[in-house]
Amino acid sequence: MIPISKTIIGEEEKRAVLEVLDSGMLAQGPKVAALEAAFAQTVRTKHAVATSSGTTALHVALLANGIGPGDEVITSPFTFIASVNSILYVGARPVFCDIDETTFNIDVRQLAKLITPRTKAIMPVHVYGQACDMDEIMAIARDRGLAVVEDAAQAIGTSYRGKSAGSFGTGCFSLYATKNIMSGEGGMITTDDDKIAELARTLRHHGMRRRYYHDVLGFNFRMTDLCAAIGIVQLGRLADITQRRRKNAAYLSEHIRTVRVPRSAPRGEHAWHQYTVRIEGGAARRDAAVANLTERGIGCGVFYPVPAHKQTHIRELGLGDMSLPVAERLSDEVFSLPVHPSLEQTDLETIVREVNAL
Ligand SMILES: *Cc1c(COP(=O)(O)O)cnc(C)c1O
Repeated sequence: MIPISKTIIGEEEKRAVLEVLDSGMLAQGPKVAALEAAFAQTVRTKHAVATSSGTTALHVALLANGIGPGDEVITSPFTFIASVNSILYVGARPVFCDIDETTFNIDVRQLAKLITPRTKAIMPVHVYGQACDMDEIMAIARDRGLAVVEDAAQAIGTSYRGKSAGSFGTGCFSLYATKNIMSGEGGMITTDDDKIAELARTLRHHGMRRRYYHDVLGFNFRMTDLCAAIGIVQLGRLADITQRRRKNAAYLSEHIRTVRVPRSAPRGEHAWHQYTVRIEGGAARRDAAVANLTERGIGCGVFYPVPAHKQTHIRELGLGDMSLPVAERLSDEVFSLPVHPSLEQTDLETIVREVNAL
């Protein structure tokens, strides 16, 4: 079986964890600080604030941008549910912008018409590791005075016009086990804004600026040094991992004939968190292709079979009838093939052969 994802865990990760265990200091400490410094350098932001997950990074980033009850946040329906849940956690209302069918990212031509007097933020999701059209999004945000919280959970290593994803607004990354680099569980908030960084640090640690004096309602969203130690080693592998993913994606796109291969927009560099193809004819046809390939030893994933606005708990919010035809259609057409850095040439050839036999 060629798995859809495979985590690289080398001797360096093992040694790093043992070192933390030997130190006896397992919770947030010097390793978290070191990971934050290295992460800020990688994304090229002034600050990086580690959290316990990508989800808590999004939650804290929204709060640190002053988003709360009554506010509207425009985001993508074509995402992992954490993007939308974080908006609900702060009491705000998600407003969905349909996507562009070639990039799978929000269609910026539709953004302006979704803005109301209650709109406070845009949350672009750099889905699959490809950057959204940030020039356009930042221009609209500046014009309307909106915050931008980037869901860059799938986009470490992604760039747009030479700038890293997550460095335009407030960036939110995930270091979950199957992301391009990982720390087991973990998240990171990146920003150039001193106030947002300071508030994010305070919120992740029970609103505590001075020991046992609590200024705001905060949380325990801290990362552990055990996780950070893994993350530091993984960050050192980022350039190599990203380059391999790009090479694998290029090979697949060059040789696959039977399904529609993904295009990477010319403005940025894709990190290929997922290599997502499309097969037309509805979900049943897609599901049959996935079952067929799985049987032939190709691990596939469907990210995601149900768009956010069709999920049960979102429907129950009664946000009204939403027509998001592109997101709905693509949810029935997409499936992802292995593109991870551990693939050998023979694996790539097997994937191409089986996909071309569909
Ligand atoms: C993984 C992911 C998240 C959440 O990250 P966790 O670390 O799993 O909490 C949020 N948004 C997107 C798009 C993701 O892929």
